[in-house]
Amino acid sequence: MKLAIGVDIGGTNTGVSVVNGQGKVFEQFSIETPKRKSAKDVLIKIFSSIYSRKELRKIRTVGRGVPAVIHPGTGYVDFAPNLGWKNFQMRRVILSRFDIKKIVFENDGNCAAWGIFKRIKNLKSLCVITLGTGIGGGLILNKRLVSTPEFSAFEIGHMKISSGGQLCGCGSRGCIETFCGAKYFRKWAKKYYEHTEHGGDDLTPLEIDTFARNGEKWAIKAWEKYGEYLAVAVANIINLFVPERIIFTGGIASGFSLFEQSLLQTVDKLTFPSYRGRVKIGSVAWNYYIGSIGAGLLALT
Ligand SMILES: [Zn+2]
Repeated sequence: MKLAIGVDIGGTNTGVSVVNGQGKVFEQFSIETPKRKSAKDVLIKIFSSIYSRKELRKIRTVGRGVPAVIHPGTGYVDFAPNLGWKNFQMRRVILSRFDIKKIVFENDGNCAAWGIFKRIKNLKSLCVITLGTGIGGGLILNKRLVSTPEFSAFEIGHMKISSGGQLCGCGSRGCIETFCGAKYFRKWAKKYYEHTEHGGDDLTPLEIDTFARNGEKWAIKAWEKYGEYLAVAVANIINLFVPERIIFTGGIASGFSLFEQSLLQTVDKLTFPSYRGRVKIGSVAWNYYIGSIGAGLLALT
């Protein structure tokens, strides 16, 4: 049976999953991502740690998820802000040190989307949107991940839903991330509770979630607004690609039931008439390992 090691290197931790072509997981563990080292040292340390496990030494197919826009064809990273990596050629470093037969690279959001897609039967197209500190995701059309060898595609977090607004980490304005990313949600949600007893607080999405479930009106309204913002990006995706399904995941997606109604209503208003009601929209609980599972599955494709 052919197995692959999927590796998803994040800023704090690195998820590793050993999978077969059907997405069955045989081993799964997490390694602390080494700090304050060069990109080359970090990569070597992580792969040394993986291959220090005897049972993994014979698996020589590897998929790598990277939190950045990368060149999947060559394994080149332009810039990975969470890792502090710049202009770095990953393939050469890994293949010169480790006995690996095949290695593929993809953006981490695309890996997660592929991991979720492969776990759902009889689906041809899917858009996954991860809602967390950042907004990421991936798109699958006709059972193929939308990406290119030159650039990992589908930076959904930077889809513009306004021509102005807050400055985004990418240097632009109007990105969906500056409305629905955790940091920005916390910022604009303040106006919903500044006149309440929570006025002096700096509430997290999880706390706003709890207050909404406890029936606090301002919190319910803040989530409704969240759904309206997100709906603009969702309607754009539907109007462009009409995927069979759109699935939210990530920390903030646990609030899905709180923003579902306003999201669906706004999506309906903004969607091209022929596509209206055609796309199933839902959420799945965040699985920390889904990026590494997807990376491993991509390597076996
Ligand atoms: Zn942006």
